[in-house]
Amino acid sequence: MTINETASNDTIFGKIIRGEIPSKKIYEDDEVLAFHDIQPVAQVHFLIIPKKFIPTLADIGPDDTVLLGKMLALVPVLARQEGLTDGFRTAINTGRLGRQDVYHLHIHVFGNKPGAEPLKVMLGK
Ligand code: AMP
Repeated sequence: MTINETASNDTIFGKIIRGEIPSKKIYEDDEVLAFHDIQPVAQVHFLIIPKKFIPTLADIGPDDTVLLGKMLALVPVLARQEGLTDGFRTAINTGRLGRQDVYHLHIHVFGNKPGAEPLKVMLGK
């Protein structure tokens, strides 16, 4: 468990952060982790999460703005790294009516590689 992690994070992403379940990591530092989504909706689909336990985007506070800016700035860097050089989508599902399934804040990044069809759906739900 890192200093940013709290014991109350029993979500699947908390378990991934703590290394209790495996993930296909594409980036990690002290504050942020990114890994491939287990059910991709496009040729490339990964998630960027904070190590700090923030359940939803609606739960962020003034202390989180630098962290969120860092996560957003990582989007194009990791998209390029994963081959999304001709565009991609981002999504943050928030809360019950936003169809959020995992209550640990995450940015979805997904898209197809150059030469493939453009995206047709946002997320498969
Ligand atoms: P959301 O519906 O926005 O909460 O998205 C949760 C996402 O987490 C979904 O796209 C799932 O496919 C993904 N997911 C769930 N479990 C895992 C896992 N063990 N590893 C990677 N992605 C996962």
